[in-house]
Amino acid sequence: MLRWLSLELTYRCQNHCKWCYNPCSRLNTPELPEKTWSRVITEAADLGTEVIVFTGGEPLLIPFLDRLIDLSSDLGILPGIVTNGELIPDNYLRLIESGLGLVWISILGSCSSINDAITYRKGSFHRKIKAFHALSHAATKRHILLMANMVIEPRNYFNIYDTLRILSDESVDVAYVEEVVHTGHAERNPCFFLDEEQRKISLHQVEKSQNDFSSLVTITRTLNRPFGERNPPPSEFLNITPDGFITETESIIPKLGSSIIDSSLIELINL
Ligand code: SF4
Repeated sequence: MLRWLSLELTYRCQNHCKWCYNPCSRLNTPELPEKTWSRVITEAADLGTEVIVFTGGEPLLIPFLDRLIDLSSDLGILPGIVTNGELIPDNYLRLIESGLGLVWISILGSCSSINDAITYRKGSFHRKIKAFHALSHAATKRHILLMANMVIEPRNYFNIYDTLRILSDESVDVAYVEEVVHTGHAERNPCFFLDEEQRKISLHQVEKSQNDFSSLVTITRTLNRPFGERNPPPSEFLNITPDGFITETESIIPKLGSSIIDSSLIELINL
């Protein structure tokens, strides 16, 4: 059964994180139109999909995102977004009205000087904080699950505790603290991986936060594993790239590289 679907609507983003997980050779990838994504969502509903997460790049750059969220919600699927959060201050009311159930925002430090040095975009930190603030109030009213993700590397690992304190103050429900993944731009920039001492210091801060911020669920899936080891994709999970290709398919689809443009989800799953 296909329970969780991740749709990468674009590889574009306003930020310039040097270790971005997007494949750097494919930033100009052609993007699927609204009509194709709507078909995929309708087929996913027929397959019993419970959650669709719109991601990227930055999904808020897609002008028809709210209509895809609406469609998912109308078909009984919980829609969510994975975002850098920085366009939410302009868009959040519209998003909430469109039935959003889950928002997952990245943050890279507890202040502009740390966060903005990593995103290479001035004002990035303040816009994220505005987004958390707006959504934490909305979440109370609308039952949005508010999540955060802090990617750690040598420029911010010492700042985990202070960042989680801010997330706790902003009533974030769940925070993930993760190392840079070995894909996309990071493959060319190994200087962003932590050494063993930095990993120990990071893990210590996560554990202290778990004790001190009781309302915030903090999860790390990498720091207590051997360096570089990735989680296997969850079973019943499928990801589709901006140009319609299937990835992370071990549990469902045996054939990597299949395209949603030529086949329906049902046909692909039955390959
Ligand atoms: S905010 Fe996310 S998608 Fe954008 S450049 Fe940074 S890692 Fe990549």
